[in-house]
Amino acid sequence: MSSSPFESVDCVVVGAGVVGLAIARALALAGREVIVIDAAESIGTETSSRNSEVIHAGIYYPKGSLMARTCVTGRRLLYAYCAEHGVPHLNCGKLIVATNEDESARLVEIKARAEANGVEGMRPLNAAEAIGLEPNLDCTAALLSPATGIVDSHSYMLALQGDAEEKGAMFAFLSPLERGRACEDVIELEVGGTEPMKLRCRLMVNSAGLHAPAVARKIEGMPVRHIPTPYYAKGNYFTLTGRSPFSRLIYPVPVPGGLGVHITVDLGGQAKFGPDVEWIDGIDYTVDPQRADKFYAAVRRYWPGLRDGTLQPGYAGIRPKIVPPGAPAQDFVLQGPADHGVPGVINLFGIESPGLTASLALADLVRALAGNA
Ligand SMILES: Cc1cc2nc3c(=O)[nH]c(=O)nc-3n(C[C@H](O)[C@H](O)[C@H](O)COP(=O)(O)OP(=O)(O)OC[C@H]3O[C@@H](n4cnc5c(N)ncnc54)[C@H](O)[C@@H]3O)c2cc1C
Repeated sequence: MSSSPFESVDCVVVGAGVVGLAIARALALAGREVIVIDAAESIGTETSSRNSEVIHAGIYYPKGSLMARTCVTGRRLLYAYCAEHGVPHLNCGKLIVATNEDESARLVEIKARAEANGVEGMRPLNAAEAIGLEPNLDCTAALLSPATGIVDSHSYMLALQGDAEEKGAMFAFLSPLERGRACEDVIELEVGGTEPMKLRCRLMVNSAGLHAPAVARKIEGMPVRHIPTPYYAKGNYFTLTGRSPFSRLIYPVPVPGGLGVHITVDLGGQAKFGPDVEWIDGIDYTVDPQRADKFYAAVRRYWPGLRDGTLQPGYAGIRPKIVPPGAPAQDFVLQGPADHGVPGVINLFGIESPGLTASLALADLVRALAGNA
């Protein structure tokens, strides 16, 4: 009988956010034995429950990038998954609105980029057509994206967890990964928390979101030159008292670091505004009520009817950036042994927006990579 303190398991997924859950499901459906460990007490407590819940069409990303490919594929998979599993969602469409001639010119570039990415149905609208669709809008032109929608992200995550569990995946919460060691053909992991455990696995997927670089650093043998420095770009949201004045999502032309302060509607018809971009040094989710002034100004450019006193501080999420402010936007990073040289480890870094939309497609890529990991 072995006296090893390590329990053997085929795959360990670190992180039960939407991406870790989709990966665990994909691996379990492929017949692999999976344990998901998460430091928190339940699924999706970090970025996966602090986002806009938008099913992105795949418009803005550079052609051929992982973001472009996984967003377009992931969006199609996500609509089908939601329909099959009864996950509340709505294909409501979105308008990208220009408020001056420069921005109108940018819409032409945005449409071309979207079409290069394979986004279906993008339609340019003049001001009268856009206002015909959304009478509260003020704009010089707009671009309609019919493929965009919204999803109840928590129901989606519960469905993924249910699928994974049905195929035998196990979940351990309050179980932070504390350290690990890459050995010749296995990874040894030490998990802390209330019920510490030692796991020996053939595949470890690091899907720890904001903490993915820190998790990679915990693995002895992982070359640090392949581990990016994390940067945090907070996105604050404000909510609107009363019902949404729009039935579609309304986005301005994008700004550096994010998509601009947009209006999204949740499935209950409540409107929220955001996220803005606030670079911060550490994880802090408080929303400073003072930021409301900038929101009023940003939103009134396309919705002049926004009344004083109607915005309330909502919540904040943090984009897991891997490049500093001012640097060119970074694609998703999906690293396997061919990239970092450590057999059996897959790292996901910089899984910011559109990670929710892309989750099923990212999971398929990880499953394929795991075949060789
Ligand atoms: C402001 C904002 C708006 C966004 N809007 C959208 C949108 O509308 N549409 C869209 O498609 N995408 C959007 N995104 C992106 C999307 O939310 C993320 O890409 C997605 O949620 C990332 O999921 P994840 O599983 O990688 O990370 P997370 O949800 O952060 O999960 C990581 C998990 O790892 C766990 N963990 C961390 N460290 C450890 C450890 N040491 N041991 C064990 N577990 C650990 C954490 O507890 C957490 O549960 C948005 C993101 C932000 C910030």
